[in-house]
Amino acid sequence: MTLGPPGLKTMVAWAGTRPPEAPTAVATSARCELCPIGIGDDHRHLLHLDERRIVCVCETCWSMRSGDPEFRPCGARSLILEDFVMSDHVWNAFQVPVGLAFLLRSSVSKSVIAMYPSPAGATESELEMAAWDALCEANPTLELEPDAEALIVNRTTRDHQYAIVPTDQCYKLVGMIKSQWEGITGGQGVDRAIAEFFDGLRARAAA
Ligand SMILES: [Zn+2]
Ligand SMILES: [Zn+2]
Repeated sequence: MTLGPPGLKTMVAWAGTRPPEAPTAVATSARCELCPIGIGDDHRHLLHLDERRIVCVCETCWSMRSGDPEFRPCGARSLILEDFVMSDHVWNAFQVPVGLAFLLRSSVSKSVIAMYPSPAGATESELEMAAWDALCEANPTLELEPDAEALIVNRTTRDHQYAIVPTDQCYKLVGMIKSQWEGITGGQGVDRAIAEFFDGLRARAAA
């Protein structure tokens, strides 16, 4: 295992919080992390802003703790952006080495961060602001709620895909990718995980 940038370790921890099969994950996801109440698989998440991790919570803690300064509720909307425009020039300026990334505005670092999957989990880098501003200018609908929402960029397929999703969904995808990763490039399992994720988004958008 190689050591990545400082953010990598926490990102990996965050990304790997809930692999569904892992026995420890069953124990933690079955309980609210802020009180002793049991919760089902389908539960709410808060973001811990300083620790940069996702906290599984019950409905009561969600409504009572969402306003705490250290927490932020994950976004609620999933939006596929059909007419999104991202030039190769802008994308190259972000210097993301793979074709899939999540871009999010961090209220802690006051910057825009790209996270992208790797065999070790999520790796992150700060984006060049001029390129981000150019992207926002080209796409007036691109308004991200800081920390809570991310723009998913998928340029691994012939038709590029873009969507705004709640941050916990990004980490779910990173976890799926990590568990499917083969070889250096990720292999077919990764392509499948990405395709399934976007199918799920489409299904929810159509529902
Ligand atoms: Zn609770
Ligand atoms: Zn959870």
